[in-house]
Amino acid sequence: MSGPAKVACITLDAADPCFLREWADQGLLPHFAKLFEESLRAETHNPEIIYSGTLWASFNTGVWPGRHDHYFPLQTDSGSYRLRRFMPEDISVDSIWNAIARQGQRVALVDLPKSRLECLPNTLQVSFWGEHEVLSPLTCWPPALEKDVLSVVGRDRVGACDLVRQRPDELRKLRDGLVDRAERRGDLALAILEKGPWDLFVFNFSEAHCAGHQLWAARDTAHPGHRPELRAALGEDPLLDVYQAIDRSLGRVIEALGDDVFLLVLATHGIGPRYDAAGALDEVLRRLDGVNVPKTSGPVESVRKAWHRLPGIVRSPFRRVIDYLYDSSRQGERARRRFYAVPTTDNCGGVRLNLKGREPEGQVAPGTPSQELCDWLTQELLALRNVKTGAPVVRRVLHGDDLFAGAYRDEFPDLMIEWNNEAPIPALRSQTVGELQVESCGPRTGDHRPQGLVLARAPHLQPGTMHGATELVDLAPTLAAHLGVQLSGIQGQPVPEFLPRPRSFMSLANA
Ligand SMILES: [Zn+2]
Ligand SMILES: [Zn+2]
Repeated sequence: MSGPAKVACITLDAADPCFLREWADQGLLPHFAKLFEESLRAETHNPEIIYSGTLWASFNTGVWPGRHDHYFPLQTDSGSYRLRRFMPEDISVDSIWNAIARQGQRVALVDLPKSRLECLPNTLQVSFWGEHEVLSPLTCWPPALEKDVLSVVGRDRVGACDLVRQRPDELRKLRDGLVDRAERRGDLALAILEKGPWDLFVFNFSEAHCAGHQLWAARDTAHPGHRPELRAALGEDPLLDVYQAIDRSLGRVIEALGDDVFLLVLATHGIGPRYDAAGALDEVLRRLDGVNVPKTSGPVESVRKAWHRLPGIVRSPFRRVIDYLYDSSRQGERARRRFYAVPTTDNCGGVRLNLKGREPEGQVAPGTPSQELCDWLTQELLALRNVKTGAPVVRRVLHGDDLFAGAYRDEFPDLMIEWNNEAPIPALRSQTVGELQVESCGPRTGDHRPQGLVLARAPHLQPGTMHGATELVDLAPTLAAHLGVQLSGIQGQPVPEFLPRPRSFMSLANA
């Protein structure tokens, strides 16, 4: 091994593939542009509808949702009406990184979401230095690494991006913090590479994720949340500022890795305006079920809205307690209903049936009755119209049984809703539901899109564009294959075109 790593994977969390290509073409991301030209590239196929909550667990484990059990940081606790905090170590399926490390390979993971490496003499892990989801304080293996990390890059000054409000000064501070973090991340990568050589080095950039959620309205004049004072404070495109900072560090890391490495760079999923009806889903379901709004709901929602208007510094220490209290206020009602909304990522909706034999006070019999109820709910959800545009509010409804086949099926929602995110949804209506205002909670103005992109670069690979998409679950097995590690019991397979002897150049098209 001549470089600091034999095999490397750099993940760009929620860095939109369309922006990456557009800005690379315009010369604004020179390092990404060079890598793009030197790589064999493919679109990636992510999990359907609930991709943003499940893709990291699928990437890490090589199995699709249902074969693993994670979709949201606060997810249903099957067999109860509670939600539980879901930490990386709670995933019931082991990661491919551990399988590789157990074979004696030297493995380093840095800020890779939803991953927890076994503590072995040949492993190194930095978690929560600056991830998008701040689930825990900085955690390092070996523990002495923490001091090194802090001496090289200090602590993250951004923290949980969702504590930011859509105010010019707060968004400017966030943008500057993300630019700074992306740049320091390059120092972090180089410091970890110096501790090599590594057989496998996996390194994540989280900054595009935070920027996409919070800075979208500042750049998009068509977004209802856009205001001239945001542009005055943040310039024309604060998202580009963050992507350019990532690009500068990406260039440094790629240079340090050298030319002999097998390198995968994965832009996991995209970003666009946040247009959904997530804030109205539970009320839609109440109306469909003929259930009255609980008397406590009005005051609870008023307190919740007031809470979100407080400065982040006030909310930060209490946010977990508030989540717990908010959820507790809703558990009793869930037990009395036939179906209810469960929290998921905003870009999709989740419905859970109160199923006999599964939930403690189940109301719906499994088999044909639950199937008929799901079919009826699907029809009713597809009948919802955007009051402003007349367009459907819901693009697709898919059944949990089809989406989440596997040992962990019961952990997941029973219906998944894909919102029609083409336009803002200020209010919705249907014959059964009537008319309902949609109020979105939280500060996010941008939300995900499902497209992903992977670039593979190695001396043996001919640059070009592959026809068709690679499966997300195939990427970690491809890294393992390059290390000679055989895996079993997973759904992912190494991508043949990325392996040392491509089986066919017929499938390549020069682009
Ligand atoms: Zn997100
Ligand atoms: Zn964030």
